[in-house]
Amino acid sequence: MQVPFVDLKAQYASLKDEFDRAILDAVGDTAFIAGGRVTKFEQEFAAYLGTKHCVAVANGTDAIEIALRSVGIGDGDEVILPANTFFATAEAVTNVGATPVFVDSHPETYDIHPSKIEERITDKTKAIIAVHLYGLPADMDEIVAVAERRDLKLIEDCAQAHGAKYKGQKVGTFGDAATFSFYPSKNLGAFGDAGAMVTNSQETADIARAISNHGQLQKNRHDLVGRNSRMDGIQGAVLSVKLPHLDGWLEARRVHAGRYNELLEGKVPTPTPPENREHTYHLYVVRVPDREAVAAKLKDAGIDTGVHYPVAIPFTPAYEHLGYAPEDLPVAHSQMSELLSLPMFAELTTEQIDYVCETLTLALPRAATAGE
Ligand SMILES: *Cc1c(COP(=O)(O)O)cnc(C)c1O
Repeated sequence: MQVPFVDLKAQYASLKDEFDRAILDAVGDTAFIAGGRVTKFEQEFAAYLGTKHCVAVANGTDAIEIALRSVGIGDGDEVILPANTFFATAEAVTNVGATPVFVDSHPETYDIHPSKIEERITDKTKAIIAVHLYGLPADMDEIVAVAERRDLKLIEDCAQAHGAKYKGQKVGTFGDAATFSFYPSKNLGAFGDAGAMVTNSQETADIARAISNHGQLQKNRHDLVGRNSRMDGIQGAVLSVKLPHLDGWLEARRVHAGRYNELLEGKVPTPTPPENREHTYHLYVVRVPDREAVAAKLKDAGIDTGVHYPVAIPFTPAYEHLGYAPEDLPVAHSQMSELLSLPMFAELTTEQIDYVCETLTLALPRAATAGE
């Protein structure tokens, strides 16, 4: 049996006629960049989340940069973010001229450790980026409280967590602004690069929209130096076809995760969402000893896996110069050699999950299963 890590073809096939029609209509109208289809998706996505404004941009990395700039973060500022996240979260901070300040992971949720944020705050700290890693909402009560107490801007990086809920409230609605990626393999994915920033502030939305379109607050009036980061019309059309199906796809992921949890219990540490946090399982991540050997055995058996992420950001060559030592971020540092992401997508079958669990159980080093 073959089990791909993600299968984008299955989702395309399930709505092929609708996608094909939407794309051909957009091409026929030569609605290539921004335009009515993108505006329509912005309105639908804002309504889905319950935010006032959505600004569609070219990708999720740009969305973070634009969000940071829109809330006034720039040269000389420090921004707090988790050590274990996709590289883009840190890259965006650096690219606005600020310095990323990394905080360790929570050992069980993998999200930023909320009680380790405050000790990293200095008089230069201006913002916190909460990343809802793997699809699990970060501890928003704690994070919102720190941000308020220390007068910091709060940005949520929701690239992996479209539709995830914390105490019944959708992520993306807690801070000053939130960002989304619609990279094709994300839980809500376009047919190319795309992203968005959402906010309840009219002012932040206006600035973000201007930045994303050459600094124009009004057409043909360049009020500030922005950039070119707009969503393609085709992507807006595709995302509008997909959005009504998102909750169903998230539910399918939760059912798959439940089966994984059941079959892997006692064998490897499985994801454990705290009460009141709805995980959307963008990634289903376990920890295994001797990871490379385990992944190789799965690969030999036809099962693709991933690692998110093999090197925590402060330990990458790009950020080595900041001088973080393993003991500064002990959880992120020790877990980065153990994290293993198993196949996860809405169209995964029960047979595939059972096969992955059976194969993984046999692939684990003996010591790990001893004592069962
Ligand atoms: C994917 C991702 C991004 C970047 O999104 P792109 O659309 O690929 O630029 C940012 N942050 C996180 C956590 C991501 O997973």
